[in-house]
Amino acid sequence: MIDHKDPISMKQERAFIMIKPDGVARGLVGEIIQRFERTGGLKLTALKMFYPDYEQSCKHYDNSDAWKIKLGTRTKDAQKAQGREDPRDPIEIGNDIQEKLRNYLCQGPVVAMIWQGNQANQLCRKITGHTCPRDAAPGTVRGDLSVDDYDLSDASNRPMYNLLHCSDSPENAELEIKRWFKEDEIHAWQKLDEARLYEIWKSN
Ligand code: ADP
Ligand code: MG
Repeated sequence: MIDHKDPISMKQERAFIMIKPDGVARGLVGEIIQRFERTGGLKLTALKMFYPDYEQSCKHYDNSDAWKIKLGTRTKDAQKAQGREDPRDPIEIGNDIQEKLRNYLCQGPVVAMIWQGNQANQLCRKITGHTCPRDAAPGTVRGDLSVDDYDLSDASNRPMYNLLHCSDSPENAELEIKRWFKEDEIHAWQKLDEARLYEIWKSN
């Protein structure tokens, strides 16, 4: 649990990022890493490229009904805005998208990373941008580098290509990190600007 009154504790928050197969295939690995690295407030503590297998892929995407309903409801809302209506209920739509995502992730390779720093998850979500690239703000990875949307991915019967996965909370990040990284793949090191950012020299 992070103590938001203690900078030493605050700097421990970790976010999990995975550049998905579309991001790797488009040759955007360096560009995407740079977006996170240049903030200064995030420290890279793990990085690897690999092909996920189907079993790992299944564990990655939340299997709860709540997540599927959220996914399905958002999709129905987006369709409605375009004057379309999918007769299926949100959970069926969520199931369908989830299965497509699981298969898609194994078409790898992917690049997984851990970024650490104060509010790492909020910061990484901000840099990543909205789930749907067409709605993502300019300046975000998805907004600048992808053009996909709900309609096109539905019509093409595939998951939305939005380049990367980003954890959505410190708790989920820790679960995802455990799933994708072994302890000895994660590295502790001192970043030069940390002392100033967290005023560590005053407490040490
Ligand atoms: P995010 O990646 O922004 O956290 P979600 O966790 O809600 O988004 O969804 C997981 C992934 O599922 C998205 O990144 C996207 O690739 C895909 N996705 C979400 N909604 C749809 C949809 N309606 N059609 C196709 N793919 C979708
Ligand atoms: Mg998500």
